[in-house]
Amino acid sequence: MTYVIAQPCVDVKDKACLMECPVDCIHEGERTLYIDPAECVDCHACEPVCPVDAIFPEAELP
Ligand code: SF4
Ligand code: SF4
Repeated sequence: MTYVIAQPCVDVKDKACLMECPVDCIHEGERTLYIDPAECVDCHACEPVCPVDAIFPEAELP
């Protein structure tokens, strides 16, 4: 399991999540940020800080 960043992040990219990740597995893409599934430790730290609720556990993606 991993966390994923979904569509609401597109063109928002405020990077609040980036500051929270203890293993620095959130990387900047062209229009969104993305989480490297190989590095994510499922700590949940990033999810509550996203202002547009773009972060989900993979199994709960809408
Ligand atoms: S769940 Fe934790 S390890 Fe995974 S991306 Fe979010 S902050 Fe980083
Ligand atoms: S906190 Fe949310 S909107 Fe901001 S960069 Fe991270 S995923 Fe995108």
